[in-house]
Formats: sequence, C-alpha cells, structure tokens
Amino acid sequence: MDFFRLDGQTAVVTGGNRGLGRAMAAALAEVGADIALVQRRGDEGETKRLVESYGRRCEIVPCDLGDKEQVLRVMPETEARLGRIDILVNNAGIQRRHPATEFPERDWEEVLDVNLKSVFLLCQQAGVRMLRQGRGKIINIASLLSFQGGITVPAYAAAKGGVAQLTKALSNEWAAGGVNVNAIAPGYMGTEMNERLMNDATRNRQIVERIPAGRWGQPDDMKGAVVFLASRASDYVHGHILPVDGGWLGR
Ligand code: NDP
Repeated sequence: MDFFRLDGQTAVVTGGNRGLGRAMAAALAEVGADIALVQRRGDEGETKRLVESYGRRCEIVPCDLGDKEQVLRVMPETEARLGRIDILVNNAGIQRRHPATEFPERDWEEVLDVNLKSVFLLCQQAGVRMLRQGRGKIINIASLLSFQGGITVPAYAAAKGGVAQLTKALSNEWAAGGVNVNAIAPGYMGTEMNERLMNDATRNRQIVERIPAGRWGQPDDMKGAVVFLASRASDYVHGHILPVDGGWLGR
C-alpha cells in the first residue's frame, strides 16, 4: 500500500548485520528505502545482499558505537554516500549479566555507552538534519526492561529505561518540527542475544508459558512495526513505545 512506501528515502539502521537489525533493514528496503548499515564488523554481506535484492542501495558505515568519535562520523558519512537521512533506527545493543553487587564498572560503562549514549548522539545528529528538512522518523529499540527491572541486568535495564524516557523527551521537543520519535519494545526474541536462555530447557519452557502468544518472537515479527513507524502511516504518532512482545506486557 502506498501509505507505507518509503521510495526515495534513506534509513540508517544500527546493528544491521544480524538479529533484529537485519530483519528491520530488509523490511525498510522492501518498501523502498535505501539503507545505511551502521556496524562494527562485516557480515559477509548477508544484510547488504538482502537489501539489494529489493533493488535498493545499501552502504555499510563502519562504526563501534562505544566510541563517540566514530558515532559522530555516522551521519556525515551517510549523507556523503546516500545523499540524505529520513529514518533512523537505533537498534544495536548489548547485554552484560552479573549480580548487581558484583557488576563491573567497565561493563556498566560499555552498556550505557552503546545502549544509551550512542542512541542520544545519533538522535541528536539525525534530529538536527530532520528538523532542517521539516520531516523525519526516529525509531529507538527499547525493551521489556524499559518497563521492568529484570534480574542481574541493572545496566541494561537502566539504559533501556533511559531509551524509553529519551524517546518521549525528544518527541516533546521535535514533534512540532515534523520529526516523529517513537520506540519499539521487543519481547523475548529468538536472536543470539538470547541464545543462553533458549538453550536452557527449563527457562525456555517458563518463558514460552508466560507469553500469551505461546512462542518466542522472531526477527521478522519486527518488520510491520518498524515499517509503520517509518512511514507516513504514523505521522501523528509521537513519543510512543510500541511493544512487539506476543502480549507479555499486557499479561
Ligand atoms: P543481537 O545480539 O542479535 O545483535 C546485536 C547487534 O548490535 C549486532 O548487530 C551487534 O553487532 C550490534 N552491536 C553491539 N555492540 C555494538 C557496538 N559497540 N557497535 C556497533 N554495533 C554493535 O541482538 P538483537 O538483534 O536481539 O537485539 C537488537 C536490539 O533489540 C538491541 O538493542 C536489544 O537490546 C533489543 N532487544 C532485543 C530483545 C531480544 O529478545 N532479542 C528483547 C528486547 C530488546 P556485532 O555483530 O558487531 O556484535
């Protein structure tokens, strides 16, 4: 449907080399967007091949999101290679598990730098450009732990709680300028991030029993939500966090 088409637009997707990022980059390309994949290492071109299979351009912008200097180069480099920035999907993220009493400061800093600080810096860099053009879509990837505390993941929960509040704060400032800032909160998704949980038969069963939909989410389950929030279908949707969680939060 035309309502959801993104022809002539450019989307920046962080962590697009695997997991949820790959599925979302492919979905945005399928509805017409060119894609800048922000990633710190190669993926033998799998996501790039997928994007190009839809006839879209795909540029890989190398960046370690834990390094501010590299983060600040992402938008100028994307503009130089693809001409414009219409959509930003802040997807990349890491998780470190330790009991709170033993949580290493180094891990705290890494999680906060990648999951929250880089999100703010990229929003800021994209926001300036989008406000100038009077239009833009920012989609931050939050988490169930934007709403719940979890156990042994204090840095991740703090960062994802921050992502949710940052989304609302930026939305308040930028909505009148034509920039939509929203977030998606995925539930339990079957990616490498959850490999340990999926391989633990007991935990796996407990999780599936707790999900109203009765199954883990898959990367493709993110596609509809990201296309909606990137397209003009969501022009009057500002500052929301959309759960894609099989009903987890409503239970
Ligand atoms: P994965 O672990 O499968 O992928 C994480 C992605 O982030 C990879 O592309 C990874 O790149 C990238 N990344 C990590 N650190 C950096 C860095 N310093 N610089 C650049 N890229 C980096 O995770 P998912 O696909 O499952 O998760 C995607 C997002 O969704 C994350 O923000 C996560 O917190 C969130 N989320 C996931 C849930 C789930 O159940 N899977 C649930 C709720 C939220 P590399 O290949 O180089 O490591």
